[in-house]
Amino acid sequence: MQPDALPYAGRLQRLGQRLPLWSVERLLVLNMKNIRYLSGFTGSDGALLIGPDCRTLLVDGRYITQAREEAADLEVHRYPGKMDGLVEAIGRQSRGEIGFEADTMTVALWTALTERLPGVTFRPLQEEMEALRAVKDEGEIAKIATAAEIASRAFNEILSRIRPGMTEREIAAGLDDAIRRGGAQEASFPTIVASGENAARPHARPQDRAVRAGDLITIDFGAVYEGYRSDETCTVALGRADPEQRHVYSLVKEAHDRALASIRAGVACRAIDAEAREEIEKQGFGDAFPHGTGHGVGLDVHEYPRLAAQSRAILEAGMVVTVEPGVYLPGRWGVRIEDLAAVRTDGCTVLSKIPKELKIIEI
Ligand code: ZN
Ligand code: ZN
Repeated sequence: MQPDALPYAGRLQRLGQRLPLWSVERLLVLNMKNIRYLSGFTGSDGALLIGPDCRTLLVDGRYITQAREEAADLEVHRYPGKMDGLVEAIGRQSRGEIGFEADTMTVALWTALTERLPGVTFRPLQEEMEALRAVKDEGEIAKIATAAEIASRAFNEILSRIRPGMTEREIAAGLDDAIRRGGAQEASFPTIVASGENAARPHARPQDRAVRAGDLITIDFGAVYEGYRSDETCTVALGRADPEQRHVYSLVKEAHDRALASIRAGVACRAIDAEAREEIEKQGFGDAFPHGTGHGVGLDVHEYPRLAAQSRAILEAGMVVTVEPGVYLPGRWGVRIEDLAAVRTDGCTVLSKIPKELKIIEI
């Protein structure tokens, strides 16, 4: 079975049709995730030049064999140096306007290219390129679902081993190990295990703090499967949870459930964010929820669109997004609950597997 051999031609074709809408004749792709998405090439360096009469993958000598195998439909060129290779490929084939990814091109490369190619106008593309990978096909959604399943299984495995006295670092290392043993390439991002007062920081790093009875422990984790990532967060209580912790947990859970229930194609991303925020704000915890409600996930763990108040994006069927409200009480503890869902025309399919009722680990 080789479903992967099929999507690249279609993706390149759709992208080619958009170039005139963006007022560019050609596109220089430097973001390696975008190159992978468009060509199948999984190396760590290279460039892709796309236009009406060219689909050229440029790589150095380390990658020539791999590029020819993985991107069999493209013309593959080997360059001795990236700058000279780009100047030659662009200069040989193009005048006029050429688009590039605004968030990938460096100032140094832009300066050199514009100096050496005075006949070419380089045009930055931001949201156009960010949105490129937002809508996933069923093959991509299946890979993200597999990543989520591996991660959820690994979480369940380590959960039964958490005991007072273990450090956050030990728990994180155990989870990372279980994720790899479960069939993932690696963890999706540096695993977060944050307990007690550390859990009051949304992006805490695991410390040498030993977990103890009465802690809330926030564990944010994911797996990579065939390049695609998952993202999920569970907050669990060690031994017991007091009434205030239970109250805040149920508030965050309600926000999470309401946001998830409002996901479907056609809904504005900022409306999902507002849905998650409403009850939290009403109960006076608005300032304790300082981040957006969610984000797209795919080849990168943070992708377009953002589910946030400032977002202008509209959900489309096939997007895969997280929902992750949180309440953080500085110096004390925090709660975040995160699930991953594929947007459908009439709702969503939740891809992460762990039930989000408050779990008390028995000690
Ligand atoms: Zn996460
Ligand atoms: Zn996330």
